Amino acid sequence: MSMIKIENLTKTVGEHKTKVLDRINLEIQHGEMIAILGPSGSGKSTLLKCLAMKESWTDGSFQVGDIDIMKAGFSGKRKISREWAYVEQSPQLHPERTALKNVLIGQAGQTPIWRMLTGMVRSDDYMGAMDVLESLGLLDKAHQKASTLSGGERQRVAIARSLAHGVKVVLADEPITGLDPKSGEDVIKTLRALCSSERVTIITVIPLELAEKYATRIIGLQEGHIAFDIKGRRLTSAERRLL
Ligand code: ADP
Ligand code: MG
Repeated sequence: MSMIKIENLTKTVGEHKTKVLDRINLEIQHGEMIAILGPSGSGKSTLLKCLAMKESWTDGSFQVGDIDIMKAGFSGKRKISREWAYVEQSPQLHPERTALKNVLIGQAGQTPIWRMLTGMVRSDDYMGAMDVLESLGLLDKAHQKASTLSGGERQRVAIARSLAHGVKVVLADEPITGLDPKSGEDVIKTLRALCSSERVTIITVIPLELAEKYATRIIGLQEGHIAFDIKGRRLTSAERRLL
């Protein structure tokens, strides 16, 4: 059984019912690293937000394991949202807290309330948090206030926060924008290693060169529909021209 299965996912907006997403069909297995590519305005961010259940859609079915999202009640959706993380282009962090503290405290829903309130942490949580910060190239930023980090660093802190809290699916919208090429590639390499160890599934918007090198699957969007969905090969020149 696929971990995620969506059928004919469609989203229209405005009075002219413009199709932002147009009959998207996708089956995603655990441990995949999926890169979503496409020109600006093709629907990449909207698709990620719909998958993360941050945005509603107009039509289509959405199944996660044996849970039908359209029929799932609050507890079913809550179970999923605890195990999934959506990292937006400008993630929300506590600005006055350090990168480390942001990772430790976690997001609402991922951390027990008492821990959020008291800020108390266990030493193995601390070690785990430092480990993920290191793997995302943030060790030297651990004690820096979130408000002083760059956009790319904040994104990586948000990813680290998800991973430290045992999230199984990470949806990250352009996580390496603003990073220099080497740091960007290191982040993607780390994410790929996490997928290969089958700890997480990643769905992300990254540049073509990195997608071809690290993603296990590449999905090309064009005007809200899937133009190609490929595995284990590079893009053809015809596919490349669609981007
Ligand atoms: P991408 O991330 O590929 O650049 P987006 O998913 O952000 O594209 O947007 C796809 C298109 O849908 C854009 O033309 C955008 O303006 C439009 N769009 C997205 N959400 C809305 C909305 N809520 N209302 C109107 N237009 C929207
Ligand atoms: Mg976008």
